[in-house]
Amino acid sequence: MLFYYHNEITFNCQYYRTENITNHPNPHCHTRVTSLRTARDFSCPHCHSRMYSYGAFSVLIKDFPDLPKQKKYIEFSGHRFRCTSCGETITEDIPCQCPFTRVTWDMALWIIHLLKCHTSISAISAMLSVHWSTIQKIQKHIMDKALAAFETCLKKSNYRPRYLAVDEFAIHKGHRYATCVMDLERDSSCGPAWAAPWQILSTSLRALTFRFFPG
Ligand SMILES: [Zn+2]
Repeated sequence: MLFYYHNEITFNCQYYRTENITNHPNPHCHTRVTSLRTARDFSCPHCHSRMYSYGAFSVLIKDFPDLPKQKKYIEFSGHRFRCTSCGETITEDIPCQCPFTRVTWDMALWIIHLLKCHTSISAISAMLSVHWSTIQKIQKHIMDKALAAFETCLKKSNYRPRYLAVDEFAIHKGHRYATCVMDLERDSSCGPAWAAPWQILSTSLRALTFRFFPG
């Protein structure tokens, strides 16, 4: 009978060679992606001169698992290049990696979909064996993008709030309070402020309003 781990699967795709490995020190890593790009494929981002390879690197990236609670890693091997003219150095980018995290785009997109379905961070962390801080970074990234798009939309439509409400809520089990300013007509929050309500109302409300709705 032929088992998948008896096969040696190697294929080249564009600038990368992918191979199935069984002897990696990490028992959860079975795939190695090696970059075939050379210094000829790069030019200095500052002076556009030629570059040369002066080093290599290998990183482990967590991939979407085949089964719940399973760990699965991809090893990516790339190069570091230095400019022959100005000495500027660059590290080869990893196309399958979600920026600011150590997970693949497959994993990041699944986390985004699960978050949109209101799955809790702890449940996603347990299901995909990902640290909660990674999920939190991805969640903050998509929230920042959505809020920036919302703010741009409001500015374009020249929107002015007419009815504001101020409320406070406790965080960290009541040891710290935050104040939230809401737009009652749009049923949306203008943003949290880390101060007591009376401070917001007396000193900061005008500044907060001007920040989010300038003019
Ligand atoms: Zn240069």
